[in-house]
Parts: sequence; structure tokens; C-alpha cells
Amino acid sequence: MRTIMMTVFSLFFFINTFGQTTDNRLEIVHLTGDFYVYTTFNLYKGDRVPANGMYLVTKDGVVMFDSPWDTTQFQPLLDSIKRRHNKDVVLCIATDFHSDRTGGLEYYRKQGIKTYTTKQIDELSRLQGMKRAEFLMDKDTTFTIGSYTFQTYFPGQGHTAVNIVIWFEKEKILYGGCLIKSFEDDDLGYLGDANVNDYAATIRNVQEKCPLPKFVIVGHGDWTNTKSLKHTLQMAQKIKPKKSR
Ligand SMILES: [Zn+2]
Repeated sequence: MRTIMMTVFSLFFFINTFGQTTDNRLEIVHLTGDFYVYTTFNLYKGDRVPANGMYLVTKDGVVMFDSPWDTTQFQPLLDSIKRRHNKDVVLCIATDFHSDRTGGLEYYRKQGIKTYTTKQIDELSRLQGMKRAEFLMDKDTTFTIGSYTFQTYFPGQGHTAVNIVIWFEKEKILYGGCLIKSFEDDDLGYLGDANVNDYAATIRNVQEKCPLPKFVIVGHGDWTNTKSLKHTLQMAQKIKPKKSR
């Protein structure tokens, strides 16, 4: 109960402090500096479930990390960004193949935004009939945009066989996507495409690659606690490895 109250309180606090909630279908919260977290919602098993993405405002345009899950919010997100920062989105990077990451790739490509993902994510997107990116990265890639540098990193299989995270070493921001669960989550969520045998080792790889993050942005739910990383590891360690027969 206390956690719930704290969450309600912190949401209330964020919304009031920054006054940045546009409507109840798209929420945008200032993270730090030029970084913003956006959230859209979809029905999943009858519940209204939030999905988080992020964007970064640079002098050379806005970089979006993942696309909204709610397909009605592709354009409203672009409009909100334009209104608020008077800048266009120039790049969108998908960190996994599920529709809460890739949904807007085709739409954004048509708007002239450069869409990126890894070859591995694209292969599963193709097989599963998901929207696909225009540009494919071979492996872990370093981007420099405006005065910002960040790396895409494949830490191993976990939530899916192809999930990547994004690490802002200087700002100590870990964009974890669906691989990292919220510190409030009771389980690892949807595991239909997961590798539960490797999950814990994969999280340890993230911890090693991305030491002492100041912020950890998770794919779903409350992202305001960096304990999410350790919490995900603990949940992954509790899952009994499937014995191969
Ligand atoms: Zn997800």
C-alpha cells in the first residue's frame, strides 16, 4: 500500500511540477537536462498498461527512443515535441521487435525520420510481421548527435533474443526498454519470447557495461527508481532454468 501511495504521490508530483501531461493518452515527463520520458497506454489482458519511451533534444534535432505503443499517439507525440521544443524528430531507434517498440517505425519513416534498429531485431520484426526500420545496425553502435553521444548495446538474450539497451555514459542514463522491469513489478512480465536461462547473466552484462546509472528507464511502469536493475536481476535469478531434454 505504501508503495502504491508513493507512486500516486510521485506521479502527482511529476505532473504538477512539470505540468507536462498533455492528455491521458500521452504523458511526457522531463527526466534531466535535454531528456524526456514519454508514456502511452494500451489494453493488455483487459488492463490499461503503460509503455515508456524517451526522447532527447539536441541542437541537430530530436532523437526518439522507441515508438509509442498507442498507434493513435504517433503524430501527437511529434506535435507535442514540436510545440514544446520547436524542433523536429530526426531519428528513431527501436530497442526490440514487439509493437510497443516498433509500432511507429513505418509511420515515422514516412515523415522523413531516420528509423534504426539492429539487423537481429529487424529479422524478428520481419518474421513476426512488425513494422520495420529503414536503417539496420550490424552490432553495438555509437551515435553522436548534436553534443550527445550514446551507445546501443546487446547484452545477451532476456526479454527477447534480440533486446538492446542504450547507454549514455556521460549522463549515466540507462535506457533499458522492456528488458528491465520496474522496481514495482512482481515478475518479469511477458515471457513468450524470452530466454529465462540467460536473463540473469544478461542483466549482469548490463550492470557491467553501464555502471552506476543515475536513471534507468524501464519499458513499462514506474521508472523513477534505479533499483529496477537489481530487482530485475533478482527476479531473473529466481526463475528456474528450463532443463534441456
Ligand atoms: Zn514491452
